[in-house]
Amino acid sequence: MAEYDVIVVGAGFSGAVLAERFANIQDKNVLVLEQRSHIAGNCYDYKTEHGVTVHQYGPHLFHTNNEEVWQYLSQFTKWTPYEHKVLGSIDENLVPIPFNLNTLDALYPKDQAQRIEALLVEQYGAGGKVPILELRKSSHVLLQQLGEFVYQKFFVNYTSKQWGCSPEEISPAVTARVPVVISRDDRYFHDKYQAIPSEGYTQLITNILDHSNITVRLNTDATKLVTLDIHENGLKFQGKKFNGKLVFTGMLDQLFNYEEGELPYRSLQFDFETLPQAQYQAATTVNYPNEHAYTRITEFKHILNQTTAHTTIVKEYPQDYDRFDATKNVPYYPIFNQANQERFEQYKQKVQAFENVITAGRLADYKYYNMDDAVGNALHTFNRFTEPGIV
Ligand code: FAD
Ligand code: UDP
Repeated sequence: MAEYDVIVVGAGFSGAVLAERFANIQDKNVLVLEQRSHIAGNCYDYKTEHGVTVHQYGPHLFHTNNEEVWQYLSQFTKWTPYEHKVLGSIDENLVPIPFNLNTLDALYPKDQAQRIEALLVEQYGAGGKVPILELRKSSHVLLQQLGEFVYQKFFVNYTSKQWGCSPEEISPAVTARVPVVISRDDRYFHDKYQAIPSEGYTQLITNILDHSNITVRLNTDATKLVTLDIHENGLKFQGKKFNGKLVFTGMLDQLFNYEEGELPYRSLQFDFETLPQAQYQAATTVNYPNEHAYTRITEFKHILNQTTAHTTIVKEYPQDYDRFDATKNVPYYPIFNQANQERFEQYKQKVQAFENVITAGRLADYKYYNMDDAVGNALHTFNRFTEPGIV
């Protein structure tokens, strides 16, 4: 059997980047264990028989201001520029999201829109951004009313579907991801770099993992092979003491056999349809805050501007996560509130007792990472654990 220096659990962005760093920078032998039948985690994409690149776990649009992440990933892929735009179905109009000055014009009478625009600019500056929960508390009555309108029409029902609760019951950072924008810029993101890997995310992650020191084993639940025993201060792999490092990018509650209780997640059901028509909708994504059980419909061919006779769309139905139910057992979103954070901290303390265990990623850090956050965090985690003096 090959001797491994590092075992990485999870072949998403976080696991792949850490595997690459240990293999490339430290010349370590790395074994990557992935429970799914494919690499790339939730960024996994593939081409349909009709030539449309589809994201199996929901639309993934890369955007970053992080120079280090952009340079790092650019070693492994060429990019196709893409600026994401989202429309919202509001009272039978299709209007830009995030709510911006164009959205205001589309939904308000002209004179009122002009007055509100002037106030928004005075209060937050041209080009400014304000989270909805802040706008709603504005001391100016017209802005407070605008806040209430946007909250009711765009946020409260979408959030109720997505999270099963009101915007006030989750971290304010969640709705602040989609602020009201004081400009006519209809883009969903405003980062310096916005692009899609030209050959797809799966190919990008294949390239990251393409190193002679890296072995990937698919269809393998690592928690069946790897155990942590605090009493023996031991990390075991396949029942034997393992003296190397473990990089874990899965759920910490699973790693510790749910000793402190389950960490809550939201899951999604994806409903894909392939239709014999060139186009289904005008934008890549249309949000439905107030209608339907799904939150949004994404039409993939817009992303890489693919010209095909058929099109593929996906509807996202949010649902509670349930590890015992195969239709609900993918933990897409950690649920961000105080109580859950406290339970997570208990697990974090447990794992920190093992000095040769490294945790990283959206699941193991229980954070709302975008792809660039996951990559940036993996790069920093590697640097932190390989500083001289740290075993
Ligand atoms: P993951 O991709 O979840 O990878 C973790 C891997 O570990 C998985 O493959 C899992 O199967 C494996 N694993 C877990 N436990 C075990 C175990 N016990 N044994 C073996 N393997 C295990 N980000 C953006 O920047 N832009 C977007 O537009 C965007 N859209 C998104 C849309 C949706 C619906 C979702 C859910 C996320 C979106 N993201 C987006 C976030 C993006 O998916 C994450 O930032 C990224 O996937 C995090 O990578 P990761 O490696 O930390 O986690
Ligand atoms: N949101 C909303 N209405 C929208 C878009 C977003 O209420 O039309 C809220 C909702 O709570 C959502 C959060 O803002 O979960 C973050 O939205 P984002 O588009 O970043 O979610 P993701 O793409 O990560 O699912």
